[in-house]
Amino acid sequence: MKPEQIKGKKKSQSTPIHPAKGLVIVITGNGKGKTTAAFGQALRAVGQGYKVFVVQFMKGRKYGEFKAAKKYLPDITVRLSGLDSFVLRDNPAAVDIELAQKGLKLAKQAINSGEYNMVILDEINVALDFKLIDLNNVIELIKNKPADLDLILTGRYAPPQIINLADTVSEVKEIKHHYAAGIKDRAGIEY
Ligand code: ATP
Ligand code: MG
Repeated sequence: MKPEQIKGKKKSQSTPIHPAKGLVIVITGNGKGKTTAAFGQALRAVGQGYKVFVVQFMKGRKYGEFKAAKKYLPDITVRLSGLDSFVLRDNPAAVDIELAQKGLKLAKQAINSGEYNMVILDEINVALDFKLIDLNNVIELIKNKPADLDLILTGRYAPPQIINLADTVSEVKEIKHHYAAGIKDRAGIEY
């Protein structure tokens, strides 16, 4: 077979990485599976040649997904933007607000850098609900994102304004959770 033919075959089989329209996907609800669903989407995307950037709001601990990306998945960059402690909903510490705002800035830079095809804002809905970041800033971020970039926002309590802007919204609903039976959180399941 001539080299040109091989080239031609390869070309016709390849699909474009950049879609014409990037999607805004929201994963919300009170059941378990939102963050892991977003990382499942990231895994699928990098398998197709995407570069993915993730900001984990309100998290300071290296979960399994952080470690996996660092060790095995160079096309997924994960940044932590919180502390490894609970944020008080009605009285967040100044450092929690500062870190969440830094996370948003980081997200904005990644979104506009042209380096990533998909950006995941993990727990951003919770950061909004806790008023660590301003809803208008996130709305602007979504509205001004590059047209071909896929943007995923996770976390319970997704505000209606974000839901309105999204192309796809999935609600993960709790039917039951093992915590209720006294089974504690553990590596590989919760973190
Ligand atoms: P995961 O990170 O496992 O995909 P999640 O992102 O849907 O879960 P969050 O709302 O971010 O869950 O909550 C973080 C942790 O709280 C989860 O690891 C989880 O096991 C626990 N959790 C989630 N849903 C429930 C629930 N309905 N009841 C009790 N604990 C829950
Ligand atoms: Mg989560």
